[in-house]
Amino acid sequence: MRSDEKNGRRIVRERSGGDCEARIQGICTGRAESVHHRKNRSQGGSWAPSNLLHLCGDGVRGCHGWITEHPAASYANGWAVRGCWNPEWIDVHLGREVVRLDDAGNYQRRQEEG
Ligand SMILES: [Zn+2]
Repeated sequence: MRSDEKNGRRIVRERSGGDCEARIQGICTGRAESVHHRKNRSQGGSWAPSNLLHLCGDGVRGCHGWITEHPAASYANGWAVRGCWNPEWIDVHLGREVVRLDDAGNYQRRQEEG
């Protein structure tokens, strides 16, 4: 395992605390089991924590499976990111919150307007 992969996995585990980050209603089983790349590795997605989500299930089950099978909804919610975009700049819906992810493993909550 390359050091950037090891580092990315470690930070994402600490960020999630072992809970699924997407928490898709009616799909989520709660416990994070796999690491998802928001931008596919084939499109240049890296192991930077901003590009990763810790999700329940895997490529065919749970939130991870649902995201894989529903690209349009996943782009709309920031769970998936197109190749030309920077994951750090894309809002992501985690449960009821909308946040951005940085590479230090933080959730950056949007400032409420007004
Ligand atoms: Zn889930």
